[in-house]
Amino acid sequence: MHRRDFLKLMAALPLVRISWRQRPPATHHSAETQAEDIDHPNILILLFDTFSAKHASLYGYPRHTTPNLERFANRATVYHAHQASGNFTNPGTASLLTGAYPWTHRSMHLYSPIIPPYVDKNLFRALGHTQYHSVAYSHNMVAVTLIYQFLNDLDNFKKTEELCLHDGQLADQFFFNDYDLATWRERIFRGAADISSYPSSLFYFLLNGEYWQAKKEAINEQYRDRFPVGVPYHHDQIFLLEDAINWLRDNLETLPQPFVVYFHLTPPHEPYCPSKEFYGHFNDSWVPEPKPEHVFTQEHPYGELIAACQTYDEYVAFVDSEFGRLYDHLNSSSLLDNTYFLVTSDHGEMFERGIQGHLTEVLYDPVMRVPLLISAPGQQERRDVQAPTSAVDVMPTLLHLANRPIPTWCEGEILPPYQTAGTERSVFAVEAKSNAKRAPLTRATVAMVKGRYKLIHYRGYSGFDDEYELYDLEADPEELNDIYATASVASELKEELLTKLEEVNAPYS
Ligand SMILES: [Zn+2]
Repeated sequence: MHRRDFLKLMAALPLVRISWRQRPPATHHSAETQAEDIDHPNILILLFDTFSAKHASLYGYPRHTTPNLERFANRATVYHAHQASGNFTNPGTASLLTGAYPWTHRSMHLYSPIIPPYVDKNLFRALGHTQYHSVAYSHNMVAVTLIYQFLNDLDNFKKTEELCLHDGQLADQFFFNDYDLATWRERIFRGAADISSYPSSLFYFLLNGEYWQAKKEAINEQYRDRFPVGVPYHHDQIFLLEDAINWLRDNLETLPQPFVVYFHLTPPHEPYCPSKEFYGHFNDSWVPEPKPEHVFTQEHPYGELIAACQTYDEYVAFVDSEFGRLYDHLNSSSLLDNTYFLVTSDHGEMFERGIQGHLTEVLYDPVMRVPLLISAPGQQERRDVQAPTSAVDVMPTLLHLANRPIPTWCEGEILPPYQTAGTERSVFAVEAKSNAKRAPLTRATVAMVKGRYKLIHYRGYSGFDDEYELYDLEADPEELNDIYATASVASELKEELLTKLEEVNAPYS
């Protein structure tokens, strides 16, 4: 290491506290007494990052991607129009865990934290410090930066590296007690921070890059038989999904009860790495419907999109098979007799209109609609909910099921069937990564789903300002026929959306 690099590293050290920021262990009831105490059921949230409902056969996708979720659905409530609150990890995850929309918690940018007033307004805190034993884990370091904000409300925040084959991030390995500070410092070293596009440490940047490549190639070689296109990875973490599933399989039953467990697993997030069993599994003649390019096209040719879509579908099928392995284990145990088991995602993925992935300005169905299945303790039959629901509904629903008060800040509602459906309401999604964090939403995309209609509003984009699209999702589920100019309902929906935006912008105006 160059001397100046060493000094830069040392300069960071005073920012790093060495104490464990861990709250004293709570008093928990024994597993035996809690098994009968359904007033405080266990809660298991399993989140697969970037899992589009549009690509799940559970929801009618032509490729048979999710046979295991379909088995699970036979003892769960299946939400058919469940909307993420944002189109990438920060807004999607923060909304799920705070019950607030991105315009409220303000985690609207990549690696952007929740603003201080909402850090304490999280699911783990609301469930009760002394009541619930709380565990969280994520492979995805973007999600880790959010969960880290709730550290004081967690009994066990498992380190990412514990379930990784290789973790190339220093902040995670050596400075986890101060992950929030250390990760920013490390990103500046490496030129990956939003505040600088250049590495501040040339030698560390180069050495780390070389080391990472060598490590990745060695691991890929070791697992070549199981993962023909490479072992799953994301950013600096190389991991086997199987290891995280195995941890849940082997440890859930021994946790103090009642527990709340949040496992945020990166697959099927890009890069798509299906196992050998699923690689080439969908090498069929089916192709998605071609759609015209959007003004926000990334100019991916159609052939490229359908090839990526096939590999994504194969990765989804792999994720589903791993889910099935966990489900079979839980099904054979008694844990589901006193556990609410949720499967969901933070956002979807898209392969259309010249756009691939989820870092985009658009909010179409493939990137917004995610799976949500909730299995209640002992549930043996399937229920289906067709009404639009939102990620912000998950927290108030869980608080209701745990007999905890629902705080006034929650912007969601208790989900059916746990509450009888009231009047038709609107749910929202926000894309504002190019808007200033603490400012009115003037450069953003906002979608509002109400009943069968979805209104999308684009504001503040250069050359695409104050634009609207309206789709009838029942008649036009592929969102190909924009009826904004012709539908009589358009003006009423537009007024509702603009009134809402005025309301949420008011604190920043
Ligand atoms: Zn994500």
